[in-house]
Amino acid sequence: MRDAVLHAIDMCVKALEQRADAHWVIAFSGGKDSSAVLKIFLSAYRRARVRPRAATLIYCDTGVENPILDAYVKTLLMRMRAEFESAELPIGVRILKAPVQDRFFVRLIGRGYPPPTNSFRWCTTGLRIRPVSQFIRGHRPEDTVLALGLRRSESRQRDRSLQRSADLYWQKQREGVGEYDLFLPIVEMDVPEVWDAVFGLSEPRCLKPQALEDLYRDASGECPVIKAPEAPPCASGRFGCWTCTVVRKDRSGAELIRSGHHELIPYFKFRQWLTEIRNDPSRRWPRRRSGQEGMGPLTIEARREVLERIEELEFATSSEILDADERGLIASLWRIDDIPRLSFPLNGPRA
Ligand code: SF4
Repeated sequence: MRDAVLHAIDMCVKALEQRADAHWVIAFSGGKDSSAVLKIFLSAYRRARVRPRAATLIYCDTGVENPILDAYVKTLLMRMRAEFESAELPIGVRILKAPVQDRFFVRLIGRGYPPPTNSFRWCTTGLRIRPVSQFIRGHRPEDTVLALGLRRSESRQRDRSLQRSADLYWQKQREGVGEYDLFLPIVEMDVPEVWDAVFGLSEPRCLKPQALEDLYRDASGECPVIKAPEAPPCASGRFGCWTCTVVRKDRSGAELIRSGHHELIPYFKFRQWLTEIRNDPSRRWPRRRSGQEGMGPLTIEARREVLERIEELEFATSSEILDADERGLIASLWRIDDIPRLSFPLNGPRA
């Protein structure tokens, strides 16, 4: 095994012994970086002389994850739960989900948010970052260590803040919930070393390196689960939302389709259509909610059009994209937006 992986395990053993009083939370997306973190964590967990007070693996389900990858991760999590139980490893597995008002289509169809772009990326915080923050808030942030798959050289901005820190492996995360510790086991690793960890370490046994490698072709990167607004859009990597319009091309989806997952074609076409209608002035209010000039939310007609397309997509893919809670909230939000339109039919509602 390469030195970098052994070094990461050593660092993790030391960290676990140093912070055995803490609740260790492992942020897992299913991608290669968080898979490497999990494997390194488990090797260290086996070797550490003291075990941490508690350990939980968390996965954030946005509700719009790429269906192939979503199925891969959820099956894996189910197997992991069973594997931890039979190996008597007291590690919890939790799937977190954004509150209904933050879900992708509630914002888009219900409130008329235009499909996200890099300059208006309204989705990451609500779908991925806030559920993790809320989980940590519920577990005494000051006693929490979040193990995260951040690597140096992933983003120049992030690099600058990492370089300011005396110990690259330990960082502080400051946000609404206060402050908590981040431990970055793979911070010094490059991509081949990450794959070394994925292939070279055995636990959890249900995580098959070859299956994971097969999901990757030419995409890389994972969605952030902590506040890192400068990070690249999540869907520029393998694991992200099938609805993502932040990236110009859905390389990940295209690659999966090329490799035979033709069931993704309807999702792919829908995403393409979303990018096309985004800047169509006839589908947007002429003013923002604040009253400022400039393209505002999607019109009610455009939102209805999106809803119809989703229903067609649900039919074509035999899947449920909107659940009953989301539909209920969308209907209420429509009622709210429709009322001011009666008085301002041409200009859209006032703030
Ligand atoms: S993958 Fe795209 S749509 Fe999903 S949270 Fe990330 S930026 Fe937003």
